[in-house]
Amino acid sequence: MALSGVEIFKHLPKTNCKKCGHPTCLAFAMKLAAKQATLDACPDASEEAKAFLGAASEPPIKGITIGAGDKALKVGEETVLFRHEKKFVNPCGFALAIKDTDSDIEAKAKSVSDSEIERVGQKLRVELIAVENASGDPATFAAAVAKAVAAAPSAGIILETENPAAVEAALTHVSSKKPLICGANADNVEAMVNLAKYAGCSLVVRADGIDAVAQLTEKVVGMGFKDIVLDTSARKPKDMVEQYTQIRRAALKKGVKALGFPIISFAVNEDPFVEQALASVAVAKYASVVVLSDISQWKTLGLIALRQNLYTDPQVPMQVSQNIYKVGDAKEDAPLLVTTNFSLTYFIVLGEVENSKVPSWLAVMETEGLSVLTAWAAGKFTAAKIAQYIQESGIEGKISHKELIIPGYVAVLSGALEDKLPGWKITVGPREANALPAFLKNKTAAA
Ligand code: SF4
Repeated sequence: MALSGVEIFKHLPKTNCKKCGHPTCLAFAMKLAAKQATLDACPDASEEAKAFLGAASEPPIKGITIGAGDKALKVGEETVLFRHEKKFVNPCGFALAIKDTDSDIEAKAKSVSDSEIERVGQKLRVELIAVENASGDPATFAAAVAKAVAAAPSAGIILETENPAAVEAALTHVSSKKPLICGANADNVEAMVNLAKYAGCSLVVRADGIDAVAQLTEKVVGMGFKDIVLDTSARKPKDMVEQYTQIRRAALKKGVKALGFPIISFAVNEDPFVEQALASVAVAKYASVVVLSDISQWKTLGLIALRQNLYTDPQVPMQVSQNIYKVGDAKEDAPLLVTTNFSLTYFIVLGEVENSKVPSWLAVMETEGLSVLTAWAAGKFTAAKIAQYIQESGIEGKISHKELIIPGYVAVLSGALEDKLPGWKITVGPREANALPAFLKNKTAAA
């Protein structure tokens, strides 16, 4: 049962020293009760308080780390059912399934290494390789795992076998990478837990349905092991949505400890479009690891964008710093464009200016991360503010002209801007960024 803020407060030092970043111990206690802070932020908490409050301040879904080093993947620690309630915390990981009987293990593993893309300023990738012991032979499995690790050293590894001997053989090659062992079932649970404990790895607990998984998880926790990932064996979209949602609800709303762990989902399907749909369901409905049979770019681009959108804090618009950005080898006669600092706006405009091959200056104005029309409607992208920004930016010392290109959506500002920026010519650019290449090329040709 979750503790109230007042109950938690009774166990804090009550010195109001502010070292935790909160003005009073009571304010900190309220944050702890809301699962928006952790007890380790209070350096003066007594051992007795830590013991008492430790469990109460733990997130309802345990955090699990797969892999080691700076590329390790942290999943779990979610605190809400719906993203708009607060935010989703740790983005799910994608894993490429490779069979130990495949003839192109290195090439597939390398495709994981090469999967990184950049979207709105963030580097995104497929993080994991799930090696399956399809041969049934431990030595073949261990050799396949070694090949995958050599070809993709930065990828996390999932050891997909229910044979403890195969896990033991593979661990000789990857124990330092802290793989996810996948996994334990009712028949092998003791051996798998011992291997996971020995190697310091996390462990998938697999059974058919929620009740069976919960029973097995309780057994594993009873053995003193908690680094658990759940697999309810749901492979159809209806089962996935129902079971994953029930698990999340049970963990968050009912405090069911046996289900307070991240979920692994196998979206693998022979039809690539069905697989894409299954993976999308898994990403949207609470899976923390999604296993795919194929990471062709057309699939991963959509999934990575979906994941990025869901795991972006909805209360904080993604934004870039206010600055005059030089695009290409912009010189003093290069055109000057202005836009807002909403990340998506910035990267789309930047991309299209780059596509034009016309070196340019891009003035990105602080509008609290709002897009052009929203910022204009909110009074943050007005003629007076744009003029002030341009005058204070120092751009006049870098260019030999006084022409400013404004977004077509705020054409209405052109007259007022010419009043606010005496001596400047205000040119209305296109409404949509994809028209910028033609616009800039025509402009340069006409000059
Ligand atoms: Fe209270 Fe600890 Fe925060 Fe200090 S750091 S205000 S003692 S909760």
